[in-house]
Amino acid sequence: MTTKTSVPEEVLLALRRHQRVLIAAHAHPDADAMGSCLALAWALRSIGVDALVFNEDGMPSFLKFLTLPGPVLTSLERLPCEPELVVCLDCGDRARLGEAIQPLLDRVPTVNIDHHLANPNFGTVANWVDADMAATGEMVALIAEALRAPLNGALAEALYVAISADTGNFSYGNTTAGALRLVADMVEQGLDLPRLRESMENNWTESRLRLWGRIMQETRLLEDGRLAAALITRDTLRECNATREDAEGLVEQLRRLSGVRVALVLREEEKDGKVQTKASLRSSGKDNVRDVAAQFGGGGHRNAAGATLPLDAEKALTVMQPYIRFVWNRLQ
Ligand code: 5GP
Ligand code: MN
Repeated sequence: MTTKTSVPEEVLLALRRHQRVLIAAHAHPDADAMGSCLALAWALRSIGVDALVFNEDGMPSFLKFLTLPGPVLTSLERLPCEPELVVCLDCGDRARLGEAIQPLLDRVPTVNIDHHLANPNFGTVANWVDADMAATGEMVALIAEALRAPLNGALAEALYVAISADTGNFSYGNTTAGALRLVADMVEQGLDLPRLRESMENNWTESRLRLWGRIMQETRLLEDGRLAAALITRDTLRECNATREDAEGLVEQLRRLSGVRVALVLREEEKDGKVQTKASLRSSGKDNVRDVAAQFGGGGHRNAAGATLPLDAEKALTVMQPYIRFVWNRLQ
């Protein structure tokens, strides 16, 4: 039996000492980022703190079923008042919070709570970075417990989606007994798992189905079947009438192929009139894809990482492939 990690005292002090707290996570939030923000907002509200949630990309549509503690702000221009503290969740570095929030981070004290490797501890009043945590949601659960917020209702649902997403529905190597015990506790307190999973899973758009079908047909098996690479060009997205959200989760499917050690999805997007490519990498066990992403200015975890390259998808594959080869070559 392992001892339970405790929340650093300076984190709890900062949360208890301020009345107006803004909670933010990385732009284009995934379920761990947004679930953690909502759960922390619920926990802070339960102790009387005015908590606001900000994300420049707003609430992702695949999480629209969650009950919100208040609107998710997409602009900082008309805040009711200046926050006294900003809590940054699930951000491997400060830039990932997006551009809009950077001036606020320069002038307001910040707490940084995250589970990414190599987080540079950018918080100004407290940093809690623990790469052994499966999800930021797991860290928020410990905070909620320390604040004596009951782990039920909307708070529990937000925590569940956060932790479920980053553990691959409690199947990856980062799934701890502690995470499973937490879910068991929440089920005991009334968390309705079948209803929640129904909302999480059975919500596909037609464009997502069409995109996945097409991309699976076109996926390339490279490096003697060890690399599965899928290119999602702007043309493909347009032809399938699909959005970036429709591509979420596809990379995990490519890793299911027997013999594949690295799954790579390269999705083109446009920024300031120029093409760029978002790379998503997945692996298993000792195969380290974070090191590959880091070569291109990105980051993440050993088995799940990403980066953005200022190239089209085809060129991004050409420059990444030699680094991906290194994933297995160095383990031989
Ligand atoms: P995804 O492929 O789902 O976008 O991201 C997988 C993991 O890598 C997540 O933990 C995510 O936070 C991280 N990640 C993705 N893109 C980037 C990036 O550009 N920079 C950094 N530092 N981490 C990233
Ligand atoms: Mn996370």
